[in-house]
Amino acid sequence: MIDKYDVIVIGAGAAGLMCSIEAGRRNKSVCLIEHTSKIGEKIRISGGGRCNFTNLYSSNGNFISKNIHFSKSAFGKYDQNDFINLVNKHSIEFYEKKLGQLFCKKSAKEIIDMLIFECEKQHIKIKMETSINNISKKKDTYFIETNKGTYSSKSLVVATGGLSIPKIGASDLGYKIAKQFNLNVTNLFPALVPLTFKSDTLEFCKNLAGISLNASVTIGKTSFEEGLVFTHRGISGPSILQISSYWEEGKSISINLLPALNIYEILIQKRKNSAKKNVSNILSDILPNKLALAICNKLKINKKISETSNEELLKVTDFIHNWTILPDGTEGYKTAEVTLGGIDTNEISSSTMECKKHSGLYFVGEVLDVTGHLGGHNFQWAWSSGFVAGQNV
Ligand SMILES: Cc1cc2nc3c(=O)[nH]c(=O)nc-3n(C[C@H](O)[C@H](O)[C@H](O)COP(=O)(O)OP(=O)(O)OC[C@H]3O[C@@H](n4cnc5c(N)ncnc54)[C@H](O)[C@@H]3O)c2cc1C
Repeated sequence: MIDKYDVIVIGAGAAGLMCSIEAGRRNKSVCLIEHTSKIGEKIRISGGGRCNFTNLYSSNGNFISKNIHFSKSAFGKYDQNDFINLVNKHSIEFYEKKLGQLFCKKSAKEIIDMLIFECEKQHIKIKMETSINNISKKKDTYFIETNKGTYSSKSLVVATGGLSIPKIGASDLGYKIAKQFNLNVTNLFPALVPLTFKSDTLEFCKNLAGISLNASVTIGKTSFEEGLVFTHRGISGPSILQISSYWEEGKSISINLLPALNIYEILIQKRKNSAKKNVSNILSDILPNKLALAICNKLKINKKISETSNEELLKVTDFIHNWTILPDGTEGYKTAEVTLGGIDTNEISSSTMECKKHSGLYFVGEVLDVTGHLGGHNFQWAWSSGFVAGQNV
C-alpha cells in the first residue's frame, strides 16, 4: 500500500517545517518525514537555547555562495519582517542582543512550539523516526521507501540541512539525493567553527583560556570585528566563527587585538609620562592582565617602558594590531554551526527552489550552497527558502 500526498518534505528542521506549513496553507496534503525522534532539534540548541531566529539586517550580503545573488528572490518574497510578524502573532517575546540579532527572551522551544502549532493547523502528517531506504521517480511521481512504508508525491522537498552536529541528526542524505539526480554539489566544509592551532600558538592560547576581548579578525579583504575567546584548543568567539567560513587550509589569519586604539601612539606617549612603568603594566590598563603579560613574555620585552627602543615598541604594536597566526584546522562538524557549500545554486530556480533538471524536486535551507554569517542569517535563509518552496510545490 502506498500512502499518497501532494508533497513530501524530508527533514523536520527550520526549512522543512516552514515549507510544510506554507504548502499546507495552500491546501496541499503534506507528509513531513524526520529520521530522529525530535522536531527542530537545531532550533532548540541554537543561540545558547534562546534561538537567534533572524537578523533585522539580513540580506544577500550576509551569505556566502557561488552565486551571492541567489537568495535575493526568496528574501523579496519572505524576509525577516515576515518571520517577526509570525513570532509576534504567537506572542513570543524577543529582544535584539546586538547587531540586529533577534533572540527569544525565554526559550528556543517557543519557536519550535509555534512551528508545530502551525503544522497541526494545516494538518501536516509528521512521520518521526522514519528512515529513508530508497527514493525513485517514475514519470512525474516520487516514491519514498522508508522503514515505515512507501510514500509517493508529485513534489519532493529536500530539507535535510547540513553535516554539522551528527549526534542530533545531521546526515548527508540531501547531498546523496542531489547526486542521485545528477546535480552538482560544491565542496563542503565545516563553518562557523572554532579554529585549532599547533605548537607555539596553541600553548599561547591554552595559557589564556577563558580570556575574551573585542578583536578584528582578517583574511584577505574580509574582516569581522566581534568577540574573541581564548580556549584550551585555540581561539573561538564570534569573530573567529565568522572568519572560519572564509578560512582555507594554509591561509594565515591576522588579528587586531585592539581595533579601536593606536597602541604605538599610546606607548610613545607613556614612555614620556610614565617612564618607570613596565610595558606589561601599561598594556594591562588596556588589555586583559594575563594577555598583556603573555605578549610581553612572548616578545621578551618585559621591562620598564623607558628602557624600550622604538623598534621594540613597534614589535609590541605589530603583535597587538597584526597578530598573524596559521590555523592547523577547525574543530570540524562536531562543533560547526553550519556547512559551507552545498547543492550548486545553478541547479535550482531562485524564485521557486525547484530543481531546473527535475520538475517536482525542491531543495531548501542549509543543504543548498547558501551559507549565512553568524547572527540569525542561517535561520532566516531556512524560513525564506522554505516559504518560497511551500508557495510553489
Ligand atoms: C549549535 C548551533 C547553533 C546554531 N545557532 C544558530 C542561531 O542562533 N541562528 C541561526 O540563524 N542559525 C543557527 N545555527 C544554524 C541553523 O541551526 C541552521 O542553519 C538551520 O537549522 C538550517 O535549517 P535546515 O532546516 O536547513 O536544517 P536543519 O535545521 O539541520 O534540519 C534538518 C532536519 O533534517 C533531518 N534529517 C537529516 N537527515 C535526514 C534523513 N536522512 N532522513 C530524515 N531526516 C533527516 C534532521 O534530523 C533535521 O531535523 C546553529 C547551528 C548549530 C549547530
